[in-house]
Amino acid sequence: MTHSLITLLVVLAAVAVFVLWLRRAGDKSREKSAKAIRDRVTGAPEVERKPRERKRPKFQQAGKPRRDEEDDEDEDEAPARRGKPAKARARDEDEADDEAEDDGPPIDEAEKAAWTAGLAKTRGGFVARLGKIFGKKKIDADVLPQLEEVLFTADIGPRAADRIFESVKKDLSRDDLTDPAKIWAKIRATSTRILDVGAPVVDLGSKKPFVLLTIGVNGVGKTTTIGKLAARWTAEGKKVLLAAGDTFRAAATEQLEVWAQRAGVPMVKGKAGGDPSSVIFEAVKRGVDEGFDIVICDTAGRLVTKTELMDELKKVRRVADKALAGAPHETWMVLDATTGQNAITQAKTFKEAMEITGIVITKLDGTAKGGVILGICDELKVPVRYVGIGEKVADLRPFDPRTFVDALYGDAGDAGDAGATGG
Ligand code: GDP
Ligand code: MG
Repeated sequence: MTHSLITLLVVLAAVAVFVLWLRRAGDKSREKSAKAIRDRVTGAPEVERKPRERKRPKFQQAGKPRRDEEDDEDEDEAPARRGKPAKARARDEDEADDEAEDDGPPIDEAEKAAWTAGLAKTRGGFVARLGKIFGKKKIDADVLPQLEEVLFTADIGPRAADRIFESVKKDLSRDDLTDPAKIWAKIRATSTRILDVGAPVVDLGSKKPFVLLTIGVNGVGKTTTIGKLAARWTAEGKKVLLAAGDTFRAAATEQLEVWAQRAGVPMVKGKAGGDPSSVIFEAVKRGVDEGFDIVICDTAGRLVTKTELMDELKKVRRVADKALAGAPHETWMVLDATTGQNAITQAKTFKEAMEITGIVITKLDGTAKGGVILGICDELKVPVRYVGIGEKVADLRPFDPRTFVDALYGDAGDAGDAGATGG
């Protein structure tokens, strides 16, 4: 009797050791295959990860606690937290962030509907693929490698993909990974963090006139964006002047003129093929002399060489500063979302040559590649100011990370299933 009991115990212990060994081997092989996907997609060894940045926005968002207030709380809590292992601490922080994400003011329903419609194609892209992985009620063990593959093949850029993936992998426990709501919440929180680069709000009233320069390659939507901004700011009671700085193509001036008439604002133009700097100089001077609130300057997107284009834009900036010291007060780079990761490359090229203080992303309505905004924010750390989600004037909308994330991922995080995301 005793003998058979001992035999039974020995057998049970051997089985337990074997099961433990199997689980560890499984984990290792999953990690290996995930790394292979990442290498295949990025064509490079694993991206080196900087330690997680806890950025401190310079302005307080309505309804959100200021970071330093949060940090004060952190300090009070510090003794209790110090005893916790790093992973548990990271989880506490992120849970706090995840909650903070839901804390903001309620989002206007009409606004939400417009964003949801504008991002429908992107939601049908990588978000729907995410939905297929953990949209189901029961998630299998392969969730991490599958998540990694979708993120790295989405048009969000390898760095943003890595940040989202690592946040899920490092901060969620094995149990959490069986809960779709927790995974969605983590993805949403990390996405919001990537998009919120902590830039101060633009105060158009801080300068008179406030000079805004728009730059970007041909066809991205600079002139259209200027037209829409002119209409928006005129409706807000501002006195707006346009500068037709794209003298490279005659059609460009005519196109801006149509927008100027539509918005009911005057425009300064030069001769076709003339010097864009003289148009900008004249416009800024007139802005000062005639008491305009805002001068919006259009520029050319194509010249014979890239160096030539950059030199011309640098000259335009110098000349604006001569007409009004400190101008241009903002330089916004316009990017076309349909070009996907090319948009990231374009922005990097321009940023090497000159200061960019804001990004406008157009044509989000026409593409599944809207996730590229994540890559742009992560790579450039420049705030997105406006996005184009349709043809109408009202479809150029001020960018808000939380509204964007809500529209992008749908109600997936709350519902815990991806039905709403089309997956
Ligand atoms: P520019 O060369 O950078 O000045 O670009 P344009 O302003 O001339 O725009 C090029 C094309 O993109 C035009 O046909 C615009 O109507 C179109 N476009 C610009 N913004 C948007 C947008 O947000 N959504 C859509 N669907 N089309 C846009
Ligand atoms: Mg143009």
